[in-house]
Amino acid sequence: MLNKAKLKVLILDDDVFMLQLLSHLLASQGFASVTPCDNGHQALNLFDSARTAPDLILLDLNMPEMDGVEFIRHLVKSNYTGSLILISGENSRVLQSAEKLVQAHRITILGHLRKPVKPAELTALIETWKIPAQNKPRRLNKSYSREEVRAAISNGELVNYYQPKVAVANGDVVGVETLARWRHPLDGMVFPDQFIPVAETDDLINDLTRAVMTGALAQSRAWRQAGLSLRVAINLSMDNLTSLDFADVVAELAAAADVAPQDLILEVTESRLMTDMKVPLDILTRLSLKRFHLSIDDFGTGHSSLTQLSDIPFDELKVDRSFVHGADGNDTLRAIYDASLGLAKQLDMKVVAEGVEDRKDWAFLRRTGCDFAQGYFIGRPMPAEEIAGWIDQWEARREELAPPVK
Ligand code: C2E
Ligand code: CA
Ligand code: CA
Repeated sequence: MLNKAKLKVLILDDDVFMLQLLSHLLASQGFASVTPCDNGHQALNLFDSARTAPDLILLDLNMPEMDGVEFIRHLVKSNYTGSLILISGENSRVLQSAEKLVQAHRITILGHLRKPVKPAELTALIETWKIPAQNKPRRLNKSYSREEVRAAISNGELVNYYQPKVAVANGDVVGVETLARWRHPLDGMVFPDQFIPVAETDDLINDLTRAVMTGALAQSRAWRQAGLSLRVAINLSMDNLTSLDFADVVAELAAAADVAPQDLILEVTESRLMTDMKVPLDILTRLSLKRFHLSIDDFGTGHSSLTQLSDIPFDELKVDRSFVHGADGNDTLRAIYDASLGLAKQLDMKVVAEGVEDRKDWAFLRRTGCDFAQGYFIGRPMPAEEIAGWIDQWEARREELAPPVK
């Protein structure tokens, strides 16, 4: 249950009538803290001074001074972790693309309201609202200092979780993706969004990547010795690709752990493959020459040019989860998904769909010929020791989800 008396709601709309209407509606639903605001700058000021950000923002896209998209940019900068409802009189394509933008920034969006707003629609959206804080208490706004993150790395407080990856056609378990977690002594489990950016800006990312990679390589070898052949994927940050010896460092770590380069996949996020590509290109090409597999991550969310995609010898393309979950039944998502799949096939890359959350997503991948899948529907990220047990469970489901073709 939502504790409406405690939740803070901000309404941002230049139309004073709308502000009154929405404030009134929310108040009548029991929301005690509703702040109306008619321009973005004022809203941001409120935001900066308030002890905590609002839990929900109702945001008009069309405003004369700062429009809704610009406002979203500010939300992203301030690591907004609350939820959002978009309001607009624009057509549904505009609303949909704004929604995609918000999702790509990983902000929770409850949906949109078309003007003129119907009270029942607002009520319905509010009903779908689950407070992130209730589900995942550690995804709150807390930020950590360089010193804290540095200590976490050197004290071994980072642990690797592994998310299974399966072949869509036959259900084979082909590998796992390594996802860093911080077991914080006081705050519990801390997710990467809260410490990877700190590590990236504060020059700790090489130490972090080395720690994650060392653990993943040791695990890879342990699985192999236990008779499990799993390809292990590791996330790299673009900030890892700044020093020309990186490929040699990776090769040395893998050799020391007795793991073949072919058994390792290095995932790079597209959105950061933007500026000067000379050094990253050098490193990635050498990694590829050394037979490490390269994967382009979060495909579809970034701004990199298609040329860059063809310039770098990626073996695999991971379609971002925002274009996978619900793609069946949404023409815009489907178009982006199809285009990504087509592009990958043309360039002879394998395609991984991320964010497979339900049976419908899975059936869609089966129909469209995607190679691999990852997502909560298949398996959540888990500690290494749980993987063998998960495989047993998967084998039982597999019969039904990926029946052998007769
Ligand atoms: P990513 O590489 O795109 O990883 C996938 C994220 O999606 C993971 O979040 C995973 O828990 C989540 N996920 C998996 N299946 C589903 C699903 O079905 N639905 C939804 N909604 N989400 C799903 P996580 O673990 O919080 O990681 C977030 C990001 O942090 C990763 O995104 C990756 O970019 C970064 N990251 C994680 N570990 C490392 C690391 O060791 N090094 C670097 N540089 N970045 C890392
Ligand atoms: Ca990844
Ligand atoms: Ca991804």
